[in-house]
Amino acid sequence: MTSGEVAVRRTIRVLPPEVAARIAAGEVVERPVSVVRELLDNAIDAGATRISLEIEDGGLTLIRVTDDGRGIHPEELELAFERHATSKIAALDDLGHVHTLGFRGEALPSIAAASDLEIMSRVEAEPTGVTAVLVEGQVVRRYAKAGPRGTNIAVRDLFARVPARRKFLGAPGSEGRQVVVLASHYALAYPGIAFHVVSGGRRALVTSGDGDMRHAFAAIYGAEMGSAMLDVDFAEESVTVTGLCGPSSVHRGNRAAISFFVNGRWVQSRPLTFALIDAYQAQLPIGRHPVAALHISLPDEDVDVNVHPAKAEVRFRDERAVGRAVRRAVAVALEASRVVAWGAAPPSPAVVLTRPLHNEPPPALRSPQPVQGSLGLSRAVPDTAGAPPQQRAVLPMLRVVGQLNATYVICEGPDGMYLLDQHAAHERVVYDRLVAAPRVAEGNVQPLLEPLVLELEAGLAATLDEHRESLARLGLETEPFGDNAALVRSVPAGLGSRDVIEEVRALLQKLENEQRVDDPFGKAAATVACHASVRAGMLLSMEEMRRLVEDLERTTAPRTCPHGRPTLVHLGTEAIERQFGRR
Ligand code: ADP
Ligand code: MG
Repeated sequence: MTSGEVAVRRTIRVLPPEVAARIAAGEVVERPVSVVRELLDNAIDAGATRISLEIEDGGLTLIRVTDDGRGIHPEELELAFERHATSKIAALDDLGHVHTLGFRGEALPSIAAASDLEIMSRVEAEPTGVTAVLVEGQVVRRYAKAGPRGTNIAVRDLFARVPARRKFLGAPGSEGRQVVVLASHYALAYPGIAFHVVSGGRRALVTSGDGDMRHAFAAIYGAEMGSAMLDVDFAEESVTVTGLCGPSSVHRGNRAAISFFVNGRWVQSRPLTFALIDAYQAQLPIGRHPVAALHISLPDEDVDVNVHPAKAEVRFRDERAVGRAVRRAVAVALEASRVVAWGAAPPSPAVVLTRPLHNEPPPALRSPQPVQGSLGLSRAVPDTAGAPPQQRAVLPMLRVVGQLNATYVICEGPDGMYLLDQHAAHERVVYDRLVAAPRVAEGNVQPLLEPLVLELEAGLAATLDEHRESLARLGLETEPFGDNAALVRSVPAGLGSRDVIEEVRALLQKLENEQRVDDPFGKAAATVACHASVRAGMLLSMEEMRRLVEDLERTTAPRTCPHGRPTLVHLGTEAIERQFGRR
């Protein structure tokens, strides 16, 4: 769709004003990931078969995209950086059937205006290429230079001269993750292009470009998931849906592993996402989301790409028909897999050296020393932990009465009834213990008999990298293992009595989504605490509940969990009496 039709020289023109005026207006360049998107689009439109992307500091200090596409003619280099200059459309009519990813002629000027930019480009027909340096959007230097065919653009110090914009950027880690995620989607959209993505000197993603989407998928999500995916190949009327979707046994805690490509464009689409989820009906556990990468092809005139300045959305002429095609395509794939999978052996559980669920020593042997309970409800919070006792928010004296809905602990207090959220309360206890004495506190670490291999998509691998040390101090010890996998040597106590790998993955996912950037260790500790805590839905014995209350009393902030949610709610005697008409 993007190759061939554009001649090599004298092709870039400034769009006539009436065409420019019809283009969805808005900010093209908002953050590193939007710059990367535009540069990748240009490389793909130029017919590249290899694209390398390099970023430093999440793209804030450097974004470099190198392609082997057809290049820009030296005589047209300046023109390419003019507003509304494009080689991809010429007249109003063309907007109705855009065959390229770009068409607005706005990206290069916008990017150059917001950064220091250096471009090197060579077309096949010319013996040498040209290098140009731009400052504030203007070419300040240019010279002929030999080089391979293609284009290499380095964008430095994005928004350095626009402090107002810089303020809205996240930490390098989070900006960089968005870039890697974007590149991963592009690698799936274009399995025929070999992508090489390096972030902060670290290889984040490499695809072979052999044209097989499953191989690209495996490069991103790991070999195991790559081979588990089902093929989707479906056509209905003028819509075709091809690609991969997970069997119902493969699912995620969020929707990040769902990608849709409409005529080669990565789009985020709620209606398509819902159609996909609908296809799984009730086959996924509650709160879990499917994994899929689907190409949707339909006639140009049935889809409007000119609706979103940052190209994230498209509009369908008949949205319901497209949604229906997606749902049916996936339903057919799932149905076919059920026929095949019937009678297959269930996956074997991971081997873990784990404490039995109820391993409390008999009461007679229980010492007043720190004791690690069956739920990891340790009494061992040192008194020196956190703020001095007199400054702590204190809990009232609580007497445990029972459990409600396997989720709340019912207590009687000095003034009425108190309901404790068992998960939130335990999270607070575990968090304080971890922060007070990471690692060393007896029972914080649960070594694995044999290391487990954790396969990670690029985004999660980066998250793990970023937090590796903190996590190790918190009991989750990992080592890099190849490019996108890690060996797990130990896990925090209380985590993963079942599927350790899934738990660790969920933990990393949570960490990735966690917004707190000011205190990385606290953030890691809160996330570990969440995963190492009693869940809602677990039955607790009276003894366990009493210990939970006791432990909570000793924490630095017993009334809130580490994420700031309340650990308990109070229903006062007066309110109760009013309810019963006694007052
Ligand atoms: P658009 O992609 O909408 O045309 P851009 O500002 O992104 O606008 O690019 C302007 C023009 O510069 C493109 O139309 C194309 O002719 C040329 N160009 C930009 N990047 C490349 C590239 N990597 N390889 C070849 N040509 C490019
Ligand atoms: Mg472009």
